[in-house]
Amino acid sequence: MSSAPVAHWIDGARTTGSSTKTAPVFQPATGEVAREVLLAEQSDVDLAVGSAAKAAVAWADSSLSTRSRILFAYRQLLDQHRDELAAIISAEHGKVLSDAAGEVQRGLEVVEFACGIPHLLKGEHSEQVSRGVDAYSVREPLGVVAGITPFNFPVMVPMWMFPVAIACGNAFVLKPSERDPSASVRLAELFSEAGLPDGVLNVVQGDAFAVNALLDHPEVSGVSFVGSTPIARHVYARGTANGKRVQALGGAKNHMVVLPDADLDVAADAAVSAGYGSAGERCMAISVVVAVGDIADELVAKIAERTRELRTGPGDQPGSQMGPLVTGAHRDRVRSYVDAGVAQGATLVVDGRGHAPAGNENGFWVAPTLFDHVGTEMSIYTEEIFGPVLSVVRVATFEDAVRLVNANPYGNGTAVYTGDGLAAREYQRRVTVGMVGINVPIPVPMAYYSFGGWKDSLFGDTHVHGADGVRFYTRAKAVTARWPRQSGIDLGFPTHG
Ligand code: NAD
Repeated sequence: MSSAPVAHWIDGARTTGSSTKTAPVFQPATGEVAREVLLAEQSDVDLAVGSAAKAAVAWADSSLSTRSRILFAYRQLLDQHRDELAAIISAEHGKVLSDAAGEVQRGLEVVEFACGIPHLLKGEHSEQVSRGVDAYSVREPLGVVAGITPFNFPVMVPMWMFPVAIACGNAFVLKPSERDPSASVRLAELFSEAGLPDGVLNVVQGDAFAVNALLDHPEVSGVSFVGSTPIARHVYARGTANGKRVQALGGAKNHMVVLPDADLDVAADAAVSAGYGSAGERCMAISVVVAVGDIADELVAKIAERTRELRTGPGDQPGSQMGPLVTGAHRDRVRSYVDAGVAQGATLVVDGRGHAPAGNENGFWVAPTLFDHVGTEMSIYTEEIFGPVLSVVRVATFEDAVRLVNANPYGNGTAVYTGDGLAAREYQRRVTVGMVGINVPIPVPMAYYSFGGWKDSLFGDTHVHGADGVRFYTRAKAVTARWPRQSGIDLGFPTHG
């Protein structure tokens, strides 16, 4: 175990702050504690927010060209350090290196989007709204905003937030997941190397205490959260009760509907890739395959054949397609869902519970697991498992499939597999889910669109990055201007003319 705990990043430097409380950070492939991470107390949060509040004043005054130039330099550094960042992610999260590199790429694309901030912050201008009167709108930064992020994308999810917030002229305090905290400090260090002034991006390590301290802090104006639904609900309620604007993205149960005309080999490839990639620890993972009509036997056979061939092993080992789960506690939770599925009567087609690769027996393993004949009352259907467990639900018709998906309380992502354009269009129009894939299993929007689910998958009214990100991190000011040569008293309500 390395001796120094993972530190905070405040005012442009690593700092240990005052708290001596720590939590273990595991190496999931071996099951060993790799290092500790500091858990902030109130004074550490105050230090981070205070530093950000001070930096926010000058940063809000910086020119758009200055911000854009620093973002371009940051993009260059991220590109140069892709492999290093992917290795940090894989070591603490467990995902395979290629998957971690994909995460870095998707984060980097948000920086590319934010490089265009001079264009994104253009306001509106109307000349002569009344005689001699012009009207225009501008968008101004909020001041200090905070981001609270989950373990499953330790680079990409923070980067959904802070590049856009900072481009908009805010200072940002990030509270990353305590389970894989190291990447966040490296991201901040690279931004600093790119020329970002000290204090504009601070990282405070911690747990629920730090989250609540940020939600209660009077100098924090806005909060972006990504994590599980119960915590998203809590963050939204507490943050808004304190007068902050909050966007809180929660958990998911993503359905892939396979219509009878679909190419079943294509659909099976997609279900396996989207169900087991990153060990199912993705909020956009497919966890339910909905087989429509009489294709189910053939589809399940094709998925099972592919599932059995997957290689599960350490994320940095060449040939591994899927890594371990993030912690031993999470592995136990996922296994217990599989036990419950069996007890509740689903058909266990592929059982990944006993997997233990030679030499790494103590890692947090669950291999890809497949259930058929899953009922909507079973806990493997009603709850988010967040592991490599795919459930097949059989329905008779397209209408049944739409009803099933819309009855689910989550609404993050969904996919439909079909060769029938009209059926796909109908599905896209009727489904109550925020992100829809048509023959695309994980429809994560590009950085210049906005990411977000509906229903219990998002609390608040703006999605992240893209145009919604810019709206969330700025507030509008509408200006009406006149330069009069003469005037007179008029107590009437102003109208145009
Ligand atoms: P989590 O909710 O346990 O933790 C998220 C963050 O909240 C962490 O920073 C954690 O320290 C903090 N936190 C945990 N418990 C808290 C509490 N009681 N009070 C205040 N803060 C608390 O989530 P996780 O296990 O890290 O991540 C997995 C979850 O995130 C899954 O549910 C997944 O679907 C979801 N997720 C959603 C999206 C999305 O875009 N909708 C993206 C990624 C992950």
